[in-house]
Amino acid sequence: MSAATACDTAYDGVGSIAAPLRAALSAASEDRIVYDLAGIEDGYRALLRELPGIDVRFALKACPVDEVLACLAGLGAGVDAAGPQELEQALRAGVPPARTHYGNTVKSDRDIAHAHRLGIRDFATDSLEDVRAVAAHAPGARVFCRLATSGDGALWGLSGKFGCPPADAVRVLETARELGLVPSGVSVHVGSQQMTADAWRAALDDIADVLTALGRRGIVLDRVNLGGGLPASGYLDRRGVLLVPPIDKIFAVLRDGMRELREAHGRHLGFVIEPGRHLVADHGAIRAHVARLAGRRGRDGERQYWLYLSCGKFNGLYELDALRYRLVFPTFPTFPAFPADRGTERVPAVVAGPTCDSDDAYCHDHTLTDVPRDLASGDPVWILSCGAYATSYTTQGFNGFAPLPYEAWGR
Ligand SMILES: *Cc1c(COP(=O)(O)O)cnc(C)c1O
Repeated sequence: MSAATACDTAYDGVGSIAAPLRAALSAASEDRIVYDLAGIEDGYRALLRELPGIDVRFALKACPVDEVLACLAGLGAGVDAAGPQELEQALRAGVPPARTHYGNTVKSDRDIAHAHRLGIRDFATDSLEDVRAVAAHAPGARVFCRLATSGDGALWGLSGKFGCPPADAVRVLETARELGLVPSGVSVHVGSQQMTADAWRAALDDIADVLTALGRRGIVLDRVNLGGGLPASGYLDRRGVLLVPPIDKIFAVLRDGMRELREAHGRHLGFVIEPGRHLVADHGAIRAHVARLAGRRGRDGERQYWLYLSCGKFNGLYELDALRYRLVFPTFPTFPAFPADRGTERVPAVVAGPTCDSDDAYCHDHTLTDVPRDLASGDPVWILSCGAYATSYTTQGFNGFAPLPYEAWGR
């Protein structure tokens, strides 16, 4: 591999980071993950401006941090939870039960009964078996049926395991009615970090088909749940190129789809969205440090730099399977803007995490990243756009590398 494959978008200068996040990162003298609550709040308000009147149910798994939940709940958001533990965390953080839904189609009888005791009344479903269990263990509850999507266009497709075709959704919701449940809605999830507006267009078409078929059977739903999948804007793809989602186009498709569904199926129709990563990813960052910048000769005899960091796949950066993160080296504040930072040469390196696992690298094909040659062991490194799925996808302490402590910064 040659230096020519090294990529120039893999880092930003210190100045490109939002001020509160920069302050939190600068203040950290030990490794941690920091969340910018003001940034999350601004993102939430921006989302409501794009999709007026929509009800937000934050997907808790994206950031199971009490301060983040309390912040969003205070702004009027609810939560999409996947099981009893997440439901309890949401309620503890102050999310009202009426704004907390059980959004997982996978649940045991016991989980359903537990949720029902907690006062949860909205349940996702996608099979006759599950809807019968909800009727038995959460009598009278409201159910929304998840439609399958292809997952095309997303970094993580989520296809196959969840949802059913439109015809089956009609059957499931009819059964719900027969069993004394309230058939309240349909939902989709077009795949996480969905990069195309077409995915929502296709999902909206399926939703329209289900509403029409149900209408013929005298079933009128009150909500359409557009699910998760809204992208973040600060990731790099596996080659190190900034992933720029067509976010304006996505919102335009959603607005058009909502208007058309209301025109065809009644003004009463409400809309829900379950963003996870979109609300938090770009408002969290990790302060890690350099373990070592080392030059080693590989099996082919070629010398290669490796930058080993204190944080990797098992303690915060699990999603390295599909993307890369922008790195900032605050010891070299203008890096990589040369020649402003004279004296700092850049060298192409494979960036990797600290564990004894070869998957713990910033890029599976070992694409190179330019880094300052003068990095010393202990120098801080800031890893941007890791506010989503970092704390939830962390191991107990693989190789003893413990989960990162977190800090949430308010206004
Ligand atoms: C994970 C999940 C979400 C959030 O997905 P993002 O891609 O982070 O927006 C929303 N809804 C459900 C049901 C989920 O499982």
